Amino acid sequence: MSRIVAFETTDIRFPTSLSLDGSDAMNPDPDYSAAYLRIVTDAADHVSGHAFVFTIGRGNDVQVAALDALAAHLVGRELEPLLDEMGAINRELIGDSQLRWLGPEKGVMHMAIGAVVNALWDIKAKRAGLPLWQLLSRMSPEELVALVDFRYLSNALTPEDALRILRDAEPGRAERESELLATGYPAYTTSPGWLGYSDEKLARLCREAIADGFGQIKLKVGADLDDDIRRLRVARAVCGEGFPIAIDANQRWEVSEAIEWVNALAEFDPAWIEEPTSPDDVLGHAEIARGIAPVRVATGEHAQNRVIFKQLLQAGAISVMQIDAARVGGVNENIANLLLAAKFGVPVCPHAGGVGLCEAVQHLSMFDFVAVTGTREGRMIEYVDHLHEHFVVPTEVRGGVYVAPTAPGTGMEMKAASRAEYEFGTAHAAA
Ligand SMILES: [Mg+2]
Repeated sequence: MSRIVAFETTDIRFPTSLSLDGSDAMNPDPDYSAAYLRIVTDAADHVSGHAFVFTIGRGNDVQVAALDALAAHLVGRELEPLLDEMGAINRELIGDSQLRWLGPEKGVMHMAIGAVVNALWDIKAKRAGLPLWQLLSRMSPEELVALVDFRYLSNALTPEDALRILRDAEPGRAERESELLATGYPAYTTSPGWLGYSDEKLARLCREAIADGFGQIKLKVGADLDDDIRRLRVARAVCGEGFPIAIDANQRWEVSEAIEWVNALAEFDPAWIEEPTSPDDVLGHAEIARGIAPVRVATGEHAQNRVIFKQLLQAGAISVMQIDAARVGGVNENIANLLLAAKFGVPVCPHAGGVGLCEAVQHLSMFDFVAVTGTREGRMIEYVDHLHEHFVVPTEVRGGVYVAPTAPGTGMEMKAASRAEYEFGTAHAAA
């Protein structure tokens, strides 16, 4: 039996605002950051659990404080019972009777819980000698269902529904695992489309994206309609008719404004409009979906929990669901989200980019393919080509697909040297 002996948190910030990488209509100058957690044990194998919450700069210290508030739940605990009952620790953290007031199940406290849960999954996967996607894909339907907190879901998804979905996908698991290892999981790239880039840079990056094999690109929109029309014209000319170009407004619009704006861009045949308005406005998204059909609505990177996803699906508000590995309550809640999407027949195309989000979320899509929906049809994972060099197991995207990782763990472990170099307050970190 081993124990958790330390709960180390670090405020890590990369000065990405200097290059306008990541700039969009609502976030003009992000410094990609990680409120980083390392769970240290006294186990003989010296395995430690790594995870983070992604933020974009100021406030990363607040997120670190939220992580620290959970330390008392973990430090001194025996490790193995926690790893054996991953559903129980998830429910225990969410159910903290005093911390719950700060949510419930939303915001910095919930994201902190997500990081703790993910760090424990990192230990569990490393101990099993498997990448997270494979560990999950080899669990029985019953074990997977036991991970999910069905509270508030039963009018849309019951444990029986979840069991049926997972059992239906059970027969082809082994074949799909081999197929995934051989052919990877489709990616699309957002690298060409940041709002701060010139038209020349946009055109060059579109050409590069196609040459690199990506099956879709995405452009940021929403700051100025004339600029959006000009940039979409540039992108459409380079990419050609029929090539999927998604657009992303990062919550910029009122509901009626979103409908007018997207209809004004409809001639460019957008693959979807992402985050047209407030991430909390479920009925607003439904109204937008009706007002811009057949253009599809996508959202989810700021959906705070499974209840919002449930409502978005119930309301017919989204045609593409975008989970995020570091937004909700960790792997467990994202399994609930994947099951909800499967129940409603909506494809999941995860949000990634930032720092470490590609490394983390690919495991969830790959698990979805092997053990939940059994398909990659109409699905792809966002990809942005920066900051991967800071990770112990960096994402590998080749020919427009994510190569399935085989290294044990969740992919969230950042190199010790990078953690030290970019710790907030040191020379290289964002000021
Ligand atoms: Mg987005």
